[in-house]
Amino acid sequence: MRIGFIGLGVMGKGMAANVLKEGHDLSVFDVVKENVDEFVAKGAKSATSPSHLASMCEVVFTSLPNSAIVEQVVLGDKGVLEGAGEGMIYVDLSSITPKAIRHISQVAEKKGVQVIDAPVSGGAEGAEQGTLTIMAGGSKEALEKVMPVLNAIGKSVKHVGEVGAGDTVKAVNNLLLGANMVATAEALVLGKKAGLNPDVMFDIISKSSGSSYALTAKYEKYISKGNFNPGFMVDLMYKDLQLAIDTAKDLNCPLISGNMSQQLFEAAKAEGFGKEDISSVIKLFEKWAKVAVRTEES
Ligand code: NAD
Repeated sequence: MRIGFIGLGVMGKGMAANVLKEGHDLSVFDVVKENVDEFVAKGAKSATSPSHLASMCEVVFTSLPNSAIVEQVVLGDKGVLEGAGEGMIYVDLSSITPKAIRHISQVAEKKGVQVIDAPVSGGAEGAEQGTLTIMAGGSKEALEKVMPVLNAIGKSVKHVGEVGAGDTVKAVNNLLLGANMVATAEALVLGKKAGLNPDVMFDIISKSSGSSYALTAKYEKYISKGNFNPGFMVDLMYKDLQLAIDTAKDLNCPLISGNMSQQLFEAAKAEGFGKEDISSVIKLFEKWAKVAVRTEES
């Protein structure tokens, strides 16, 4: 299949590499030239713009930072829809607002282009290893056509409803991730302040009812070592909490821990942690309690 991939960042890089490994004819585009060069060296073709890329492809994927960028890349000047032929399928793997993807789908429909929102979960490692969870919204028929490619990117691909449903599930999932990350950071700092050994705390809690992905994925690799290279950036977590907050506002649905968690990530951004991993939120609690939750030499 002739596949196009736009956005070769932390997530896109691993996903596009797995598409290439499956033997598809891959064309790529990114505003950062080095990202494109890396793929051209592996055998991909480069495009001069999203519209140029779309004119060469049967299916176009994007993995981009936010709704505004996705809208610009797809609907804007020299965007995907400008170059798309009738029958092309466009799949967005980013996490954006359900509203934005529904709008894109309405515009795309007029050109005979089908849209699928297929946000992913599983982080950079999942992207590299092809083990992501993918939640797809859109027509079953379009999804079946792109299933072989999605199966190369993820190990669990689920059809969750109409266009926009994928991004809605993702917003709900990341609302939990954000709240769990903040609660985990706060709890670990309390334990440390009360005199517990962080590794012992981790060992017990990771096998107990207080465990979560925020603890198991973020303690050993990031917090215990004091290494906050992303991973999943604070800026993106902040944006994802906004997706949940906007969705909740539209539906008049209270979102207390979601808003509170976002404020903590706001504070992390203010401290200059925006480009660090989400586990860096623990540094706020550490500063307030005057302790550091790191592996202790025994
Ligand atoms: P990233 O910033 O590392 O990558 C984004 C890529 O898009 C970069 O290579 C950038 O150069 C490119 N880009 C930006 N503007 C562009 C434009 N106008 N045209 C073409 N390319 C452009 O971000 P990421 O971590 O890879 O995240 C991508 C998406 O996946 C986001 O929506 C994020 O919320 C979601 N996501 C991230 C993770 C994670 O752990 N990082 C996990 C799940 C989902």
